[in-house]
Amino acid sequence: MNNHTAEVLIIGAGIIGASVAYHLAVRGCTDVLILEKADVPITGSTAFSAGGVRHQFAREVNIRLSKYSIERLKNFSEEIGGHADLRQTGYLFLINDEDTWAQYQEQARLQRMLGVRVELLEPRDALEYVPGIRLDDIVGATFGAEDGFCDPYGIASGYLKRARELGVHVALSTPVTGAQLNNDHLLAVETPDGLVSGGFVVNACGAWSGQVASLFGIDLPVQPVRRNAYMTECFPKFPDPIPLTFDVDTGFWMRKEQDSLLFGMANPTEPPGVNLNVDWEWLPEVLDAGIDRFPLLEEARLAKKQCWAGLYEISPDHKPILGRHPELPNYLHASGFSGHGVMHSPAAGMLIAEEILDGRAHSINIDELRITRFRNIAVQNETNVF
Ligand SMILES: Cc1cc2nc3c(=O)[nH]c(=O)nc-3n(C[C@H](O)[C@H](O)[C@H](O)COP(=O)(O)OP(=O)(O)OC[C@H]3O[C@@H](n4cnc5c(N)ncnc54)[C@H](O)[C@@H]3O)c2cc1C
Repeated sequence: MNNHTAEVLIIGAGIIGASVAYHLAVRGCTDVLILEKADVPITGSTAFSAGGVRHQFAREVNIRLSKYSIERLKNFSEEIGGHADLRQTGYLFLINDEDTWAQYQEQARLQRMLGVRVELLEPRDALEYVPGIRLDDIVGATFGAEDGFCDPYGIASGYLKRARELGVHVALSTPVTGAQLNNDHLLAVETPDGLVSGGFVVNACGAWSGQVASLFGIDLPVQPVRRNAYMTECFPKFPDPIPLTFDVDTGFWMRKEQDSLLFGMANPTEPPGVNLNVDWEWLPEVLDAGIDRFPLLEEARLAKKQCWAGLYEISPDHKPILGRHPELPNYLHASGFSGHGVMHSPAAGMLIAEEILDGRAHSINIDELRITRFRNIAVQNETNVF
């Protein structure tokens, strides 16, 4: 590590740290150093993401983060030079109870008001998108044509490469292990190579951000929670593409990954913790839910070696935690994306750059995302999460 001081220190070289670095550098703030504990960048959750992007959220702020970010991903190659590989193959939500259907119709009104293309479908219309769905209990479906999926590694490495070209440095094998504070000012971070001082410090450590925040004396409510992604062998019975399709009742989801099918379902009893082993005991529950809704799936064969597990970085209300820490204003939060950090990475990078360079994020109002919200009694949860 050559630099022991920088105007901005970013902890974590995942998609969020890379996006923050790029957005600072492109605005002329190039004295930026990323500190990464691993010996190569992009080995955290970003490398294990399913890459889904969607506008269909319940909270306005999440819809705005998605709208801005997906627009930027469309022009990623021209703007940044990397490959976002955005495929707008849609997201289809299948709903089987009237109360949830009423909520989804309400959400669709909000999404449309914000300029999102979302359709309300009669149950039988869903068959146009995915063959063989069991529809007897489905009361409605929503389809977002501009949703889809992207290449998380391509985006993160694109941001990182461009940031480096603009002058950003990356120190690998450099875990942040402590902090030096002076009352309400952060002076330096500790690493095995010595102290590194920075005017600003951004915590972009994803699933580890709570642990890293505690080094600064900050109680950040972000927990690592394992999520599994299972893959079938080549399975042409579902055409390519199908939309990323959710059975809302169970949370079972699937999409095509080339000729194969990628699928999963969150285990509500999964305890917080760092566990990267695929949960094979959970698989029968996932398959039961999947085959019950999509009977064709019974004919698919599991590609055991292609399955994986990674970590979500879950906040209490499933929304990111962004912006300056009130009692330590030169320390910034950029984590807690709760499984949506890839799709929101362009907006997150831009907003954190605004917090640092303009004093406050202004392109999107992030007051609902500041850590201070947890001091209020009535926190507004994002409900459309799995
Ligand atoms: C199975 C799965 C499916 C997912 N699907 C989607 C999806 O469809 N769409 C979507 O948008 N998101 C999805 N996600 C979530 C997405 O992957 C994350 O929200 C996103 O990658 C978070 O990026 P990050 O940069 O904050 O974290 P990371 O990529 O984890 O990067 C954090 C970095 O911080 C480093 N670090 C940690 N501690 C320290 C330290 N002390 N010092 C220095 N460095 C440190 C780590 O080594 C790591 O490189 C999924 C996640 C999983 C696991």
